[in-house]
Amino acid sequence: METGLVLKSTGSWYKVKNNNGLIFDCRIMGKMREEGIRSTNPIAVGDVVDFEIESQQAGIIKNIHERKNYIIRRSPNLSKESHIVAANIDMAFLMVSLRSPKTPIQFIDRFLVSAQAYNIPVIIVFNKIDIYTEEETELLNELTDLYSNIGYECFKISVKELINIDIIKNKIAQKISLFSGNSGVGKSSLMNILEPQLDIKTAQVSKSHDKGKHTTTFAEMYELPQGGYIIDTPGLKGFGLLRMESNEICHYFPEMFALSEKCEYYNCTHIHEPGCEIIKAVQDGRIHLSRYENYLGMVDDCKEEKYRR
Ligand code: GDP
Ligand code: ZN
Repeated sequence: METGLVLKSTGSWYKVKNNNGLIFDCRIMGKMREEGIRSTNPIAVGDVVDFEIESQQAGIIKNIHERKNYIIRRSPNLSKESHIVAANIDMAFLMVSLRSPKTPIQFIDRFLVSAQAYNIPVIIVFNKIDIYTEEETELLNELTDLYSNIGYECFKISVKELINIDIIKNKIAQKISLFSGNSGVGKSSLMNILEPQLDIKTAQVSKSHDKGKHTTTFAEMYELPQGGYIIDTPGLKGFGLLRMESNEICHYFPEMFALSEKCEYYNCTHIHEPGCEIIKAVQDGRIHLSRYENYLGMVDDCKEEKYRR
């Protein structure tokens, strides 16, 4: 039996690299056991699998190693089935731009909450600093202060002017990384610089096509020359918000969660209760107002979705 890493999945075939760097086209025989996930695909990019060699280039997957994390995409048709996009991600880079296009601050917080729920560390990368006005630069500094105080590493870069790209290069070495962000922020441009062989198409070309269309393209993992991998997830901008209970959301705002045990009521929703430590902290500035507002927005959405179900 061999052990290998799944670099690509087509749904029926899997490209697997064994420990000696050899590539095998593998398929699955029989049923694969999976705990707790009803997914349309049992194996995803980033999975570590055991397989039996059939021939020089082919093998049969027998077993999946336990995942340290994974991200899913819900099926568009409201069924309970979901699609596992990728597994065993060391780090997600959230790319943000404060100009053309401006990333909504809600998008940042929603992404961070989902990543926290998925158990994936996030690094926030502010791109396009070459075109920011003075005001935008001020906002940039406020945001990097805000998020680094919470504990998220932040970098200010310009893919166009090649500013601070080496920092990102060092960060991705030997790791499995994922680049996310709303379209137009520069994900493809950055990935192409980090690994020119990727040749990921930049946004402009396809913008009109992918509106409202659910693409079922599979993610693919690319090996970096300095070691490590980049996962490309075509058509996936963020993680989407996972289905969660409204009282769970606070757990994924680290700075709020840390204070919530001081709330008077153990089941405090931090919305209206007397003796709520979080409301106090918002008032005296320990918790940033925009974070709290986005928390409230997410709780609202969560209730609404539950009502619709
Ligand atoms: P994606 O949708 O996130 O993959 O974004 P793209 O990589 O396709 O980039 C969108 C547009 O932004 C392209 O026209 C890029 O040339 C441009 N762009 C990317 N990075 C920068 C940057 O640092 N500065 C400026 N001024 N433009 C950039
Ligand atoms: Zn509270």
